[in-house]
Amino acid sequence: MHDFLLAKEIMDELKKISEDKKLEKVKSVSLEIGIISMSHDGHPEHLEDINPENLKFGLEGISKSTPFEEAVFRIDKISGDSWRIVNIEI
Ligand SMILES: [Zn+2]
Repeated sequence: MHDFLLAKEIMDELKKISEDKKLEKVKSVSLEIGIISMSHDGHPEHLEDINPENLKFGLEGISKSTPFEEAVFRIDKISGDSWRIVNIEI
């Protein structure tokens, strides 16, 4: 579940960056992803491990008509409870 919610959160952040930097077409995005805490569907905030395949699928699904439409998403699992964008290649 967090995979797909996180995909939306990451894409929102990527869109913000692409607008700030006026990026039109991105080749690849590298991400580091830990265990992510979220609240959703009426549940209080809790941790859930992220499945990189699901996250990738989610990102590809919502990147249509954005500068990330043809981007390759590289996802590295890390320890800890955060995620970050490591690199955006144009
Ligand atoms: Zn959850």
